[in-house]
Amino acid sequence: MKRKKLEIKEKVNNDIRLTKEEALFLYNSNDLLFLGELANYKKGQKSADKVFFNVNRHINLTNICISRCKFCAFGVDEDGQGGPYIMSADEAVEFAGVAVPMGITEFHVVSAMHPKKNFSYYLEIIQKLHDSYPDIHIQGFTAVEIFHFSKISNLSIKEVLLKLQEAGLGSIPGGGAEIFNNEIRQELCPRKANTEEWLEVHRIAHELGIKTNCTMLYGHIESIEDRVNHMILLRELQDETPGFQSFIPLPFLPANTRLEHIKRTSAVDDIKTIAVSRLVLDNIDHIKAFWVMLGIPTAQIALNFGADDLDGTIVEERIMQAAGASAGRGISKSDIINLIKDAGFTPVERDTLYNEIKTY
Ligand code: SF4
Repeated sequence: MKRKKLEIKEKVNNDIRLTKEEALFLYNSNDLLFLGELANYKKGQKSADKVFFNVNRHINLTNICISRCKFCAFGVDEDGQGGPYIMSADEAVEFAGVAVPMGITEFHVVSAMHPKKNFSYYLEIIQKLHDSYPDIHIQGFTAVEIFHFSKISNLSIKEVLLKLQEAGLGSIPGGGAEIFNNEIRQELCPRKANTEEWLEVHRIAHELGIKTNCTMLYGHIESIEDRVNHMILLRELQDETPGFQSFIPLPFLPANTRLEHIKRTSAVDDIKTIAVSRLVLDNIDHIKAFWVMLGIPTAQIALNFGADDLDGTIVEERIMQAAGASAGRGISKSDIINLIKDAGFTPVERDTLYNEIKTY
């Protein structure tokens, strides 16, 4: 055990890639201080003592969804309970515009897969947002949504991405990855893009020069080995076509889902997942502690375990809020700055593409 730890430490200190077995060893170890020391070292190499955040507005266009994934508390049927809604293009622009005076630099547009809306609806929204606020970066539509657009429009994934890019889309977020095990996807979310399809969308985006992020939903019915396999598939794609800017591990929030019987992950599990991902994903620059789902105290601790980004101040987010995330309505910029300083790091406001805007 001690020897194995020394071997891993030696590899981390010499920038040698960790194997799947070593990642599993770290996950199964309860020596959090050891894990924190290694992950913090790697974080320091990538971003010194900086911790990034951005100021964005989340725009969730509709909650009406054909997929109805078992882990989701947001998607509803068109005529069902749960307050189905859909924004028109003008409503989306108005909703977005309210946050502009708050100094946002990003619109974060993520939605459900509406049974009737065609691709032109989504394109029109991106075009109108871009025409109304050309200086604000639009990060929008997960690989799952892009794959859906391709199916409903009979366009290839590349054509869909090019049309969105032409309308004003700047980058794509990392959602919809869930866990890269097709048996589990079949059980939890059979109607959406599978592992290979999700990876293919990001591969094509990267080839087109579109930056993306990547996520992993953990703490439901997956194994630790599934988590490590997931990270390794992301690492392989990043080797092949670089373009992932950050990795965002997302703990499953069971409230109001069809998996409500599953216990929420512990803070120890959340922290370990952040640290192991920092060590395994040696070719992805940033690891995000997404405070909306982790909760603020755990996100703050995660900064000492390899995370170097707290995501945004997020003016109102509905998807995680539906699953009981306590922090869904956003926190102020000064709160996020203090939170980073209290953890011992230097807060840096960034734009979506990690250009530094201001150091506090
Ligand atoms: S996770 Fe996304 S695709 Fe699945 S039901 Fe929820 S909104 Fe729909």
